[in-house]
Amino acid sequence: MRIGKIICLARTYPEHAKEMNAKITEEPLLFLKPDTSVIFNNGTILIPSRSHCLHHEVELGVVIGKNGKHIPQENSLHHVLGYLVGLDITARDIQSEAKKNGWPWAIAKGFDTFAPLSDVILKEKISNPNHLDLELEVNGFVKQRANTNQMIFSVEYILSFISDIMMLELGDLILTGTPEGVGEIKEGDILEARLDTFCSLKVDVQKEV
Ligand code: MG
Repeated sequence: MRIGKIICLARTYPEHAKEMNAKITEEPLLFLKPDTSVIFNNGTILIPSRSHCLHHEVELGVVIGKNGKHIPQENSLHHVLGYLVGLDITARDIQSEAKKNGWPWAIAKGFDTFAPLSDVILKEKISNPNHLDLELEVNGFVKQRANTNQMIFSVEYILSFISDIMMLELGDLILTGTPEGVGEIKEGDILEARLDTFCSLKVDVQKEV
């Protein structure tokens, strides 16, 4: 299946907003990543020459299985195909400059290889997406560990909110935001992400040549 649009949320975990000195918003903050940012298990994150500081952000991904617009919250999980663990790789130096100037985040978030994704776990295997452990290790050390129950928005609400703005289509992916513990990744690092016992993702980091 082809990945469609990639819709990302920001500041959905209060402790992460705090570490970024960012305010929690009443409604979800959205941005998009291009489909060309996707890589899969055993892939390589490439450090572009324009950035000197890439950060890892481990996130629950929700894959859409059925088109929908203005989806009510109570029906929203019917539109889900499954879940995955993904990384929202961020050029933090470029993003900081963008934040300072009020510019969009498309460059900071949109480089090729900036969306590593695990395989999809079908939703039938996961009874409650709002109660899943998320974990990321870098070189064998745990850097991020949280539960999706710490998110300020439920998956049901997120789906409904986004579908009020843009139609959700088969193959679209929502990256629901990262918990605290984000940090820098460097050439040669090995990243291993897990969504509970359901799926995992392993990627390495190299400089773009
Ligand atoms: Mg993120």
